[in-house]
Amino acid sequence: MPFDVQRIRSDFPILSGRVHGKPLVYLDNAATTHKPQQVIDAIVGFYTHDNANVHRGMHELARRATDGYEAARGKVARFVGAPDHRSVVFTSGTTDAVNLVAYAYAEPRLKAGDRIVLTHMEHHSNIVPWQLVAERTGAEIVAAPITDAGELDLEALHALLDERVKIVAAAWVSNTLGTVNDVRRLASLAHGVGAVLLLDGAQALAHVPIDVREVGCDFLALSAHKALGPTGIGALYAKPELLGEMPPFKGGGEMIEQVTFPHTTYAAPPARFEAGTPNIAGAIGFGAALNYLSSVDREGLAAHERELTAYGTRLLGEVEGLRILGNSPTKAPVFSFTLDWAHPYDVAPILDHMGVAVRTGHHCTQPLMDRFGLPATVRASCALYTTREEIDALITALGKAREMLA
Ligand code: PMP
Repeated sequence: MPFDVQRIRSDFPILSGRVHGKPLVYLDNAATTHKPQQVIDAIVGFYTHDNANVHRGMHELARRATDGYEAARGKVARFVGAPDHRSVVFTSGTTDAVNLVAYAYAEPRLKAGDRIVLTHMEHHSNIVPWQLVAERTGAEIVAAPITDAGELDLEALHALLDERVKIVAAAWVSNTLGTVNDVRRLASLAHGVGAVLLLDGAQALAHVPIDVREVGCDFLALSAHKALGPTGIGALYAKPELLGEMPPFKGGGEMIEQVTFPHTTYAAPPARFEAGTPNIAGAIGFGAALNYLSSVDREGLAAHERELTAYGTRLLGEVEGLRILGNSPTKAPVFSFTLDWAHPYDVAPILDHMGVAVRTGHHCTQPLMDRFGLPATVRASCALYTTREEIDALITALGKAREMLA
């Protein structure tokens, strides 16, 4: 079916709600997206009809729960082009997935003098786990610079790469700038020095088509809630040969083969990395979100997002004293900006009062803020259901804020 934003909006019950008596204009999608009825129904349906724990039971509900959970894993694998459903580990989200790689892959391998290359646009979730592991191993963190337009400086990154670099970890899509990185090139640069590439796919899932085999990344970290799914669930894709070599990170039920007091042997991946009762309803909701995204005309969606980016950039560019951070020509519809007549924290409550939800702050990217010499920005971020009219509402609300603050 051709892309039709109004038809899509009708699937999201929250979008017809009001806040402060005004129609909701939700422009905080980089923080979390809303959920279509299909995802809500999948979660309610699980608890209403199928609820049981997975894997261990010999009864019908246990079978249904296990089938639903494992079917969701297959959906994630297919959605990202993974060769095998066993290369997908359910995690609680991107943060958890990066930590899993940092502790189970990187820590046993890294030694003093090794390097981990990050970029200046990383989210704290793709910085702090590496710092913790660097402290334990003596490895060093090096950050690749970005340009004034907010694009990764690939030549500078290239120059940082040598045989000391064991891991390159980068955002596919920046949550603050909207920049879409050239991940194929990142993979070939990392592999050129024998390093592995971890991609932070938190923002990519909703905005760009993903094919891990085509990109050639070694690891991909995902959060369902950024792409129409529930919170508290995400996934790590890892190349099967890397996952197979990784020791467990958390111990508990489900991840074992045989337990005795002197010695425990571990299950094969992905179970080895899923200790304890997993977020079963979350995984089922994640699968439903991916089904929903798969049903959307991707070319139509890409065109819609390009149009939102161009429209928002043009209208925001006409607001006096407004400066946009992140001007990559191929960026996702994420607008971070400052205003020379007000502090971001003074603007957001006025916008909120007019029903316009934006985020203010450093967006968990403090090194990026430092790079631009800013303490905070206002960020308006779009999803597939965002309309031009919502951008118009943002512009009107900014006009009102200016009247009040300037
Ligand atoms: N990376 C990026 C680029 C993000 O936008 C976010 C969420 N803001 C994360 C990582 C962390 O995701 P989560 O909190 O779902 O683990």
